[in-house]
Amino acid sequence: MSDEIPYDVLVERLTRQHELTVQTDDGTTAAQRDALLVQLRDAVFGGSDRGGAPANQSKMPMNAAALDLYTLIDRQIAEVWAAAFGRVPGSERPEVLVAEWSAKVDPFTIVRYSSPETIRVWSDRFRDKVEQVIWTLDETSPYNLLSRWHRAISELFDPPRLMTNPAACVSCGARESYRRLDGQSVKSTALVIELDRISNRPKEVRCLVCESSWGPELFEWLNRAIEKNEEAQHADVNKS
Ligand SMILES: [Zn+2]
Repeated sequence: MSDEIPYDVLVERLTRQHELTVQTDDGTTAAQRDALLVQLRDAVFGGSDRGGAPANQSKMPMNAAALDLYTLIDRQIAEVWAAAFGRVPGSERPEVLVAEWSAKVDPFTIVRYSSPETIRVWSDRFRDKVEQVIWTLDETSPYNLLSRWHRAISELFDPPRLMTNPAACVSCGARESYRRLDGQSVKSTALVIELDRISNRPKEVRCLVCESSWGPELFEWLNRAIEKNEEAQHADVNKS
């Protein structure tokens, strides 16, 4: 992984107001930021739960992508919290549950959580493949789960610059990925290359399907692994 953020910093950014260094024309300056989970909820409901909105204003979600992500994190934290505390959480907000859970668990033990996966299945009715969302059980560490949430929220507010790469992922073999975006399924290559905002140079290659990632120090190795992979597949095709 390229830029690893310490566990306690992840917890802080997700759950509490925190200070961030931001880049301005005059250099860098410190700025106060709300907890990412609070920012995410504000993006979903337009900040109307701050108390300023009229009581009769309906809480219509304003941002479908933010709603999808908020719902996902809400579900996942409730799931791992329940496993850690041995009971179902109350109606606390996700930032409260994340703070409690992250203080209770060991960052590098294994926890189980569910995540949605879009699969394409044949439909007799439509005579075509249709998309279906299934929930699969996965295992990871609390550290990884927090950094995924952190990354997902940060990228929602500030989407990375990505280039697609049609090669098969050397970890999972996938070439395509389907993501939910604004309630719709978006098809992309599995491998994407993230570009640095300033230099425009590749910063990281990652797989949207299995979430493997490779930093610049591994680019050479990765290119060779991809080439070998493609050669092997061509050889297979020629044989059959
Ligand atoms: Zn992969």
